[in-house]
Amino acid sequence: MSVIFDKYVIKEETYLKALILSRGIVFSDNVLKIAAVEKAKGQNLVYNMPFNASNSRPQELIIRNVIDSYEVVVSCVASNLTSTPILLDADDEGRLFAVSDGERIENIEINFVEEPEYYSKLLSNGELVKKYVSACGLDELNIIPWKGCAISRGCRFCGINNFIRSDELSAHKISKNKNEWNRVCEAYLNNLTEAIIIAKQSECYKNHAHVILIAGNLSNENLDFETEVFSQIAERINPLVKSISKEGIVVVITPPNNMEYIDKLKAAGVGKVVFNLEALTESGFEKYCPGKYDLGYQFFVERLKYSVNTFGKGNVWTNLVFGLEKKEFVLEKCECLAKEGIVISANVLHLDKGNTLDCNVPTTNDVVDFFYKLEQINAREGFVPFYCSKALRTSLSNEAHDLRIKMQ
Ligand code: SF4
Repeated sequence: MSVIFDKYVIKEETYLKALILSRGIVFSDNVLKIAAVEKAKGQNLVYNMPFNASNSRPQELIIRNVIDSYEVVVSCVASNLTSTPILLDADDEGRLFAVSDGERIENIEINFVEEPEYYSKLLSNGELVKKYVSACGLDELNIIPWKGCAISRGCRFCGINNFIRSDELSAHKISKNKNEWNRVCEAYLNNLTEAIIIAKQSECYKNHAHVILIAGNLSNENLDFETEVFSQIAERINPLVKSISKEGIVVVITPPNNMEYIDKLKAAGVGKVVFNLEALTESGFEKYCPGKYDLGYQFFVERLKYSVNTFGKGNVWTNLVFGLEKKEFVLEKCECLAKEGIVISANVLHLDKGNTLDCNVPTTNDVVDFFYKLEQINAREGFVPFYCSKALRTSLSNEAHDLRIKMQ
């Protein structure tokens, strides 16, 4: 069974994911009570937070197709001003169901992504394990060594600097004084090691984990130091995560000034690097990522190309925010970058607290059409999307690759 949508045939779980990403989701009161009882994972408050939401708003849903058991995870993005949101409700037995324009979506089972067991566990020093590792989607194992982003001018869709407490280690503090990192480094690495050993036992990583080192930028003049720190972390954790990581360690950062530091990432055991352009046209890049533009569009492109030589075709990735720019222009740029050996993926734009955007989220038609065409571009180069459909919660890259979206 599938849904006929525009010129596509889409499997139900992917259809619902596309609807939620483009129209947002609201919860009935009953559903919110169930979420609390079932310990649904709440907002992780790192990069973003939906408008009008509290920390306890469920962060993600897992949607399973009952016919062939294919599963996706979707971010519970907030509703927007231009479309009717999907309603998540529950029947008398507490089973969740989704309603779009008054019609229930059939052939799927919906559950909350629960908090991983390790979220409530403590390290031997009494700190929470989740201070060092956390999970986005079902099976990402995220390592975020500091809070915030010290880029010269913040990207207009990003709310990362809204969530820093004054007592926390931040990109701003380290950028002012590297010793802020150096003096905690050894203790951090020891605590991180212990945290990973505990987290690895969790049910959510029983099949595999996507081990992702990611953080906001240090200041422009400290980007080499940033890469050095990530190399240091990768080197330490590599033996610990080898057995569970699907694609090796993935590092998501702004690239270093000195390209030789990219080789250091490889030497430290990093498997894949991600330097996100976010907007692919130069004018979109200037408008929506002014701080990245201060470094230069070519700065990113040159370092992506350099990384292809170091890591190999298909092991270098750039992500974009779909909705910032016109689909046709973006696809044209995707084609050029893919020919250089760079894998492209995208998150669907969602409007979070702290954004300063002038555009709205894309329509469901555009979302489906874009990911279908993006997959064709990547497939021509033999690229597979990163992670999996249960990790990439605001993207349909894996679903398109797994043929959940087909042309009629
Ligand atoms: S570089 Fe841009 S998207 Fe990345 S954390 Fe900083 S402000 Fe956010």
